[in-house]
Amino acid sequence: MLLGAIEAGGTKFVLGVGTPAGEIIAKTTLKTENPAVLLPKIESFFADYELAAVGVGSFGPLDLNPNSKSYGFITNTPKLAWQNFDLLGSLKSSLDVPIFLTTDVNASCLGEKTFGAFQDYTSLVYFTIGTGVGAGGIQGGQFIQGLSHPEMGHMLLRQHPADLYAGNCPFHQNCLEGLASGPAIMARAGRASHLLAEADQTWEFVSDYLAQAAFNVSLILSPEVIIFGGGVMKQPQLLPKIRQKLMLLNQNYLSLPNLDDYLQTDSLADLQGLLGCIALAQQQLSPTKMANR
Ligand code: ZN
Repeated sequence: MLLGAIEAGGTKFVLGVGTPAGEIIAKTTLKTENPAVLLPKIESFFADYELAAVGVGSFGPLDLNPNSKSYGFITNTPKLAWQNFDLLGSLKSSLDVPIFLTTDVNASCLGEKTFGAFQDYTSLVYFTIGTGVGAGGIQGGQFIQGLSHPEMGHMLLRQHPADLYAGNCPFHQNCLEGLASGPAIMARAGRASHLLAEADQTWEFVSDYLAQAAFNVSLILSPEVIIFGGGVMKQPQLLPKIRQKLMLLNQNYLSLPNLDDYLQTDSLADLQGLLGCIALAQQQLSPTKMANR
């Protein structure tokens, strides 16, 4: 059996074909052009394969409420061509197979849980710190889902007293994404995260915000592990700083596991999203499927 995967990002779409065991047999990357240009390219990539189902992990916000009229739509993204776009419906009409949709970060979380280093966990949160900041969660084996999917990337934080950067979230200015995303680092420090010195003060700020995020998530969701992925996390000095600051914030209030085990980086070498889409397609097809709305 072959399964399709679509990792739909704001700058690129990664498409893949894989087996239920997580072996990727074909993969391509497309620029996120307007849907009218992109959709035929997606259709043509998958045309060579007989797929049992396709899993999609998309940028958002998404409407994931199955009772809503706009179920499967990308809603209020700043990317105009994709605003209020019926992603699920459009894919369903161009690919004639069952298609299952979740957020990009939920897909990464599921990829780590299914194929990565986190298979023994039933409650986990996956953060991506990159062009945007977002987090997906699985609790009791299911995606966390209420009115819609969580939007942990926009949680409000206490700003570091020495950080004078106003934040760049178009909705909330100095929310987590507005302070700690790749573009926020670039705007504050004048250079991209991978070009910043290890001792740059920016890392004090970013690690402070990510530690606050980890603390808040620990208080609210009590996960067994928090995974940090995305381009900004490729700086090896960052995770130890987050652990240190989480310890100070917690003040031994929550009984957390050893922080080296509790806060970890992703384990699938940037394939967690694609593999998560494969896992989503597979689980939704199988009788013991994981709930996905
Ligand atoms: Zn925000």
